[in-house]
Amino acid sequence: MASKAPAEAERTPALVVSGVSHSFGDRQVLDNVSLTVEQGAFVVLLGLNGAGKSTLFSLITRLYDNVSGQIAIRGFDVRRKPSEALQRLGVVFQSRTLDIDLTLMQNLRYHAALHGFAGRAAAESARQALELVGLADRANEKIRALSGGQLRRVEIARSMMHHPDLLLLDEATVGLDLGSRESVIKIVRDLVAHEGVGVLWATHLMDEVLPTDRVVVLHKGKVLYDGPVPQLLTQTGTTSVREAFRNLTGTKTTIDEAA
Ligand code: ADP
Ligand code: MG
Repeated sequence: MASKAPAEAERTPALVVSGVSHSFGDRQVLDNVSLTVEQGAFVVLLGLNGAGKSTLFSLITRLYDNVSGQIAIRGFDVRRKPSEALQRLGVVFQSRTLDIDLTLMQNLRYHAALHGFAGRAAAESARQALELVGLADRANEKIRALSGGQLRRVEIARSMMHHPDLLLLDEATVGLDLGSRESVIKIVRDLVAHEGVGVLWATHLMDEVLPTDRVVVLHKGKVLYDGPVPQLLTQTGTTSVREAFRNLTGTKTTIDEAA
């Protein structure tokens, strides 16, 4: 961001998605999706299974190429400036991606090597990252010794090792017991508050949305709402996110039952 004045760089959103559509064959799964994640914001991407959340993440991370619309991370277009964009991005994917026969430290050092640092610098950054998620004392244990929630925390640590501006988390709490879910969410919310990272949190679980969050409702590939939670309730004449979601989408099942 050297070419921009500090004040302007300060305001550049962590993520801007504008007018993005995507099809698998002749099946359109994203339809003109736009959303913004400001720096230091926690934005919930709320949608039923099949809404298109993971497809959007695959476009942001460039697993797929976006052919329509633009995606920019801290102002860097992911197609035109992929390395600048991706070095500012951390991701926790829906499926788990740690080597269970390696230790926490070994997994993280391997990731550091992919980002081009090795030796003591890598070990130190791994240690700092594990501290962020409260697992520094488990560094030399094998991944297979951890609980599901701890595993997720290691993945969050790994995603933070290169100090990204934007963190994407795809259904990070699915399959966890209530206590682990709460601890994972708290860690991520603390990263937003203390590290200033912008978070896009994809979920189908209504109770993960707080009144102070911004929420983007994605339904059948379309953004039906994007804004603060209180306005969502006012606009739909409802008193809960669950009710508002049903009202907006016309679905009869609750979002949690549909999972
Ligand atoms: P979500 O993450 O919100 O559950 P997805 O992005 O995984 O939704 O899926 C959106 C839609 O796209 C679903 O109908 C899904 O079946 C379809 N889909 C996802 N990936 C593929 C693929 N690789 N090929 C064909 N269809 C896909
Ligand atoms: Mg998904």
